[in-house]
Amino acid sequence: MADFIPLSVPNFGPREAELALEAITSGWVSTSGAKVTEFEQAFASYVGMPRAVAANSGSSALHLAAMAAGLGPGMEVLVPTLTFIAAVNPLTRYVGAEPVFFGCDDSLCIDPDAVEDFCANRCTLRGDRLYNNKTGAHVAALAVVHVFGAMADMPRLLDIARRYHLTLIEDATEALGTRYTAGPLAGRHAGTMGDIGCFSFNGNKIVTTGAGGMLVSNHAPWAEHAKHLSTQAKADELQFLHDEVGYNYRMTNVQACLGLAQLERLEAFVAVKAARYEQYRAALDGVRGLRILPFDCTVTRPNRWFFSLYLGPESGLERDAVIAALQAQHIQTRPVWALVHEQADYGGNEAYALARAEDYRAHIVNLPCSTGLTAADCDRVIEAILAL
Ligand SMILES: *Cc1c(COP(=O)(O)O)cnc(C)c1O
Repeated sequence: MADFIPLSVPNFGPREAELALEAITSGWVSTSGAKVTEFEQAFASYVGMPRAVAANSGSSALHLAAMAAGLGPGMEVLVPTLTFIAAVNPLTRYVGAEPVFFGCDDSLCIDPDAVEDFCANRCTLRGDRLYNNKTGAHVAALAVVHVFGAMADMPRLLDIARRYHLTLIEDATEALGTRYTAGPLAGRHAGTMGDIGCFSFNGNKIVTTGAGGMLVSNHAPWAEHAKHLSTQAKADELQFLHDEVGYNYRMTNVQACLGLAQLERLEAFVAVKAARYEQYRAALDGVRGLRILPFDCTVTRPNRWFFSLYLGPESGLERDAVIAALQAQHIQTRPVWALVHEQADYGGNEAYALARAEDYRAHIVNLPCSTGLTAADCDRVIEAILAL
């Protein structure tokens, strides 16, 4: 039986083992220890920010971002529907705010036209606050997810956020390493252009600490507040005085060691992603109604975290049948997430411009994309798809 080819798994080697062993033998295995600060600094320097705040998951980083941005009851957040649900829950219901959902453009990221149309035609700006005409709520923030490592249209989204007084929160959990290479934002990394940005080091992400997250902000006090909230809002080390309700959202020293080792390898991981993506693209894009969805390489350097096989109408292939047929050959693939506005108890929230998101949801199969995927594995996946 052929070996199992997973969708996206961690790539750990001797360097991760070496640094993690340092933490273990030193005894600093929990949430104190110097490596967390070291990882925060190395991460901040990689993405070009003065400060980064570590957390124990991307979801907790997003929850910290929502609290640091002051989101709460009576407020609405404009969010994409084509994303993982952890991009929405922490920014809305965790803090008592409500989402308004939007479809995507062809980058798979939130559709700027739809957001602009909503702000211009379904809301009223009074002073420096935008109000939803239908609900009366204060539309306080815009959440942007850089889906599968593709950069959302930041020049437009930043402009919309500025004109309608929206806090812009970037969910860059899938996009560590993605940056602008040209245009007005050249050099800026995904996650660093809005008011506050979040990253994840979950096991399936391009860089992993097992579980973990990171937060950066262009408002220094927001980053400090997030750090404070992540450490039980402890105002005094000796007396255990707490000045607000905080959380235990801290990263451990062992995780930080894994992160330091992984960060050293990030550029090499991006290069492997690019090579495997190109292998799939050359063999499958435009063949028998199949497409490998593009990443923009004119003004961005994408990390190409996840690869999307699009089953066009001429392919005659149906998503779930493809996934099952590949599974039978020990190849793991998956559909894109069920749209968030149809899940949990978000059925009562507004949702706009859904057609493209519904189409991508119905026709995308994500292909194996681990950074340890060999060219031979990739060929086996390609042959299996061409034999369908
Ligand atoms: C992975 C992910 C998250 C959450 O990160 P965790 O570390 O798993 O909590 C949030 N948003 C998106 C878009 C993600 O892909």
